[in-house]
Amino acid sequence: MCLTIPLKIKAIKKEMAELSDGRKVSIALIKSPRVGDWILHTNGYLIKKISSNEADEINKLLNSYSVADSTKISLRLVKTFEAAARGNLKKADIKYLLDLDRPIELQALYSEANIIRKTNIKDHICIHGLVEFSNHCCNNCHYCGLRRDNKKNNLFRMGIDEIINVCDQIVNDRGYKIIVLQSGDDFWYDDDKLTALVKGIKEKCRVFLYLSIGDRSLGTYRQLKRAGANGVLYRFETSNSELYAKLHPGKILKERLDNLRAMEKMGFTISTGSIIGLPGQTVDDLANDILLMKELGAFMPSMGPLIPSQNTPLAQAKIIDFNLLLKMIAAVRLVMPTARIPVTTAMETIGGADSRHQAFRAGANSVMFNLTPDKYRKHYNIYDNKFYDKEKKYEHWALFKGDLSYQMLEDELKVKI
Ligand code: SF4
Repeated sequence: MCLTIPLKIKAIKKEMAELSDGRKVSIALIKSPRVGDWILHTNGYLIKKISSNEADEINKLLNSYSVADSTKISLRLVKTFEAAARGNLKKADIKYLLDLDRPIELQALYSEANIIRKTNIKDHICIHGLVEFSNHCCNNCHYCGLRRDNKKNNLFRMGIDEIINVCDQIVNDRGYKIIVLQSGDDFWYDDDKLTALVKGIKEKCRVFLYLSIGDRSLGTYRQLKRAGANGVLYRFETSNSELYAKLHPGKILKERLDNLRAMEKMGFTISTGSIIGLPGQTVDDLANDILLMKELGAFMPSMGPLIPSQNTPLAQAKIIDFNLLLKMIAAVRLVMPTARIPVTTAMETIGGADSRHQAFRAGANSVMFNLTPDKYRKHYNIYDNKFYDKEKKYEHWALFKGDLSYQMLEDELKVKI
């Protein structure tokens, strides 16, 4: 579930190893550790030996920008960091951060966010597995390739047993412990089917289960919570109600927000957030998005850039600069120091191969890997040219099996699974 910073074994005495940072951990879980070995550790145990090349790669991934020289950044930025440290960032401060463009100040912002991430949640990178199980949708959102008026999609639906079997394999064979089940708003999956799905997964797998299934009645969500679902990934998309209404025909923002608040009361862990780069969206809107994520108690604030999709009204929309995404991540980290901020596939699609690394260094700490079966994945075209990386390295480094890794996850999420 989590990637931690590699250390070297300095000494071994009885059942304990002393590591290069001075901490002492049990060696009970790994075979024949030796002084000089690179290792990963958690909760007081060595959990994996790794090669020095792997240690280098992980260190590069987690290493931060060097701290900017505070004499070269404006007093306003210094004061803004101080306000963040007091938990007192106002909308004007957030807008100021989102408008930064001097390289030295951007570096200072990302570095500050990364330090806050390290201070509050250490070097844990949370790993989520995403399963997209249906690309049918009854809605017509202007930016989305799955909209019902796009007749060029190859439509698919996975059966209930098929989804359960995929989750079984992901959790019990590969070691994932957090799954996001995602679909369009597809009412072929009625309450009975969804309940059977959640129960079936929870019977076979010890897993934290997020649902991303769109606008359902609160009664449905209540039933799914009782069936064992843990969280919802349900973005409000934009805090600007007029923009929301324009982009989501027949929908109003208030309903979406009322649902989120009700789901939080039901006990769901909330993941929510917005799209960055919508036509007509302003910096004021983006600052409001961040404040709304906080107000809604988003455990996992979820943001992604608008990426144009063929056969949609926004097919010709412009793609935003990647730095705006990094600024959003960093600003969210300053406002919500303990949040799990994922690097989304959409971010990687516009940011390229190094974008995950850059996002971590700007305060992100979660990844979401697409585990949809190959034959379906290519048809889940929310937007064009979707990034896809086979994540074998992360599975090797960061997914452990057994009770200890569950204990680690439960400590992180503050919830029993
Ligand atoms: S964004 Fe979601 S609800 Fe809107 S069309 Fe796409 S899949 Fe459907």
